[in-house]
Amino acid sequence: MAIMPALFIGHGSPMNTLEDNGYTRAWQKLGQALPWPRAVLVVSAHWFIGATAVTAMARPRTIHDFYGFPDELFAFDYPAPGLPELAGEVAEVVKPHWVGADRDQWGLDHGTWSVLAHIFPKADLPVVQLSINALKPLDYHIELAGKLNELRKRGVMIISSGNVVHNLRRIEWNRPDAGTDWARRFDDMVAEQMIEAPADILKAAEHPDYDMAVPTPDHFIPLLYTAGLAAAENDARALLRGYAMGSLSMTCYGVGIDGVTCEDGDGAARLPEGVPPDQTNI
Ligand code: ZN
Repeated sequence: MAIMPALFIGHGSPMNTLEDNGYTRAWQKLGQALPWPRAVLVVSAHWFIGATAVTAMARPRTIHDFYGFPDELFAFDYPAPGLPELAGEVAEVVKPHWVGADRDQWGLDHGTWSVLAHIFPKADLPVVQLSINALKPLDYHIELAGKLNELRKRGVMIISSGNVVHNLRRIEWNRPDAGTDWARRFDDMVAEQMIEAPADILKAAEHPDYDMAVPTPDHFIPLLYTAGLAAAENDARALLRGYAMGSLSMTCYGVGIDGVTCEDGDGAARLPEGVPPDQTNI
């Protein structure tokens, strides 16, 4: 079996689940162009806990982990099956690191389903989530990804879902498709690093705009997994670029993808009115 691609998706607002825009159309196109995997392993920014864990239930529930959005979004269901045996494979390939099997706590959060709703809209592929261990240093995640690369040879697509630039306190409502200067500088630097030398992605953490672009590490760490997977082959490219509301980068990366092109996105979904952006948990 050929090695499966890996993706990093900048997910932005969970309203992208329900909207039709330049990003969601690009994600749909990606899903149609990619090979069909045995299962999808997702590293989502929204499962950021004090342990490394993997969902191991046969029927993961759809988790609505945000505030202030319309009822329609809380009613959204992504009924993909789990794959308990893949949880076992994850534990095996990451040794000597330890991964816990979560049988009843988590499920699929919006970092996962807001993008899979477009990439695999029928929800007919097994989906397993890997948590982000908040207690580990950044280089742990790159090393873990290097071990997870083995799963790509076993038919598993690995999708990371976050945002390279994610500063909810700096949202600019009147600039829906713009990136502020610091957001663009940081996103450009990361793109160059991902393409030229993904193994050294942590140089981004020394960039002068890092603290502004990455005020908390949860949405940035998924990129480290994609960088770690890309490092083995030095093969990553930016699939689409763009910004939302000044302080979010919607940039997506692909590893091991030939011949798939996406146009840069626009029209990313907005946030609900009347709720402070940093209280939405997007
Ligand atoms: Zn998010």
